[in-house]
Amino acid sequence: MAIRKIRLDGDPILRKECKVVDKMTPRLQTLIEDMFDTMYDANGVGLAAPQVGILRRIVVIDVQDEHQYVLINPEIVEQDGEQTGDEGCLSLPGKVGTVTRPNHVVAKAFDENMMPITVEGEGLLARAICHELEHLDGVLYKDHVTDGLRNAEDSGEQE
Ligand code: ZN
Repeated sequence: MAIRKIRLDGDPILRKECKVVDKMTPRLQTLIEDMFDTMYDANGVGLAAPQVGILRRIVVIDVQDEHQYVLINPEIVEQDGEQTGDEGCLSLPGKVGTVTRPNHVVAKAFDENMMPITVEGEGLLARAICHELEHLDGVLYKDHVTDGLRNAEDSGEQE
């Protein structure tokens, strides 16, 4: 188990586009394990590879629905509905901002064995999928916040 250093807002790596993963390697398997360790250590519900300095299209999500999602080369293929609520990010610790997201999304991706998977999410899971996937294209949630970031009042979900 290894906790990696989380890159913070202002680090140029968070603004870069990540590369597609062609095949699973021992190095990427270790990366995925470390991403879960790092996310849990920071009490997050999601983490994208660029947040630990690796420009690959990999995200991990655990919104405490008894699934540990590994999404490789993910793409949102369907979305509908709308939810407006507070969002946070492990790369912007202690801050939250209001973001409107689809309430329901369907994403296609590959799992840690490079098997194709489909993940359907509502509510928090839909929000986490949208948030993490944007990290892969260098987008941060604060880009969508129109009324400013606020200090987090409690240890709410951070992605
Ligand atoms: Zn984030």
